Amino acid sequence: AILNLGSINVDRAYHLKSLPLPGETVTALSEQIGLGGKGANQSVAIARTGGSVVHLGAIGHGDGWLTDFLQSAKVDTGHVHLRKNVQTGQAFVMVGEDGENSIVLSQGANATLTTSEISAAIATMAAYDWLLFQNETNGIAEAARLARAHGMKVAFAAAPFEASSVLPLLPLIDLLALNEVEHAQLQAACGDQPITLPALLVTSGARGARYVDHTQSIAVEALTVTAVDTTAAGDTFLGTFLACLDGGDDVRQSLHYANAAAALKVTLKGAATAIPSRQDVESFLKG
Ligand code: ADP
Repeated sequence: AILNLGSINVDRAYHLKSLPLPGETVTALSEQIGLGGKGANQSVAIARTGGSVVHLGAIGHGDGWLTDFLQSAKVDTGHVHLRKNVQTGQAFVMVGEDGENSIVLSQGANATLTTSEISAAIATMAAYDWLLFQNETNGIAEAARLARAHGMKVAFAAAPFEASSVLPLLPLIDLLALNEVEHAQLQAACGDQPITLPALLVTSGARGARYVDHTQSIAVEALTVTAVDTTAAGDTFLGTFLACLDGGDDVRQSLHYANAAAALKVTLKGAATAIPSRQDVESFLKG
């Protein structure tokens, strides 16, 4: 099973003719509201792949529709805490007609996890389970240390990349997942220092992904699809990959499957709602 310490956001996407300049006010052509946050997206990807996932996170009062959505995707929300005086994390996404976007994040409840909530969730997991987290909640260093002490494996999607919080955690990580931009940021932050990691997964958008550990290096080419929205592509890839690994598939099979799930995701608009199920991916692979 996988314990995912992860962000839960209300994503508000505003479709605009063009992005506003400093000082400018623009009226949205349309607005779309839905569940988002890298953490929530990854939990949905794990569950829709058939994996067992417990989400550890926090939301504000009155946003029960978010946990309803997670539950309907078969995510265990027993450790999603409800805050009275803090609002749910928000992502304000402005999308221009050319597809360019600007995003403002407000952390809200995602920054309120307590040590006792983290340790209580870890205590329910088995020693061979995975802890997964991203860089969108508080408590990640603490969770990594507790999980390692508990015997769990630790996976980290280091996004948004921030050298001061990411670098000190690397010795505790079994699988580090990055996109190309984050990978370049990691290399820049490390300079001449060699980076030693048990396993590294780098996704490269329309160019596919690669995985490297001490025994193997495997690359997968992206599948050819008509991309309409790449939001949550990386989250779909990682969630699916981990669910496959946790379910006993080998790395090559897991990569192949995750690559197909992510390709299918980019053919659909939206974040969590557009993440495919195992059945969708299997029929897609059969052509
Ligand atoms: P992120 O969303 O984190 O930036 P990427 O852009 O690297 O992540 O995309 C993650 C994965 O999604 C890729 O490794 C690939 O499998 C799939 N993917 C992304 N864009 C495309 C595309 N245009 N065509 C096919 N697959 C894609």
